[in-house]
Amino acid sequence: MQDVFRLVKESIPMREAARICGVEADRAGMALCPFHDDHTPSLRLYDDHYYCFGCHAHGDAVDLAAFLTGLRPYMAAKFLLEETGTETGNQ
Ligand SMILES: [Zn+2]
Repeated sequence: MQDVFRLVKESIPMREAARICGVEADRAGMALCPFHDDHTPSLRLYDDHYYCFGCHAHGDAVDLAAFLTGLRPYMAAKFLLEETGTETGNQ
């Protein structure tokens, strides 16, 4: 059951996960932070995690998806896998 988290980490880039959740990053990987009232992009998307220079929020793709969708982490991971059409295999 924990495998969905590993699968997200291995298969879905942070930027892709953010885009699915409605967070669009610019070419430098900066996006408006959903964790605080952001007016200039403060959220930096790295390959496997995010970090906000404004409010210091940080986490991985599942953390961001869970926050933005209101889903529990396991369901948020499943949501990302479904949205990207990633094969989840046997569970
Ligand atoms: Zn922030």
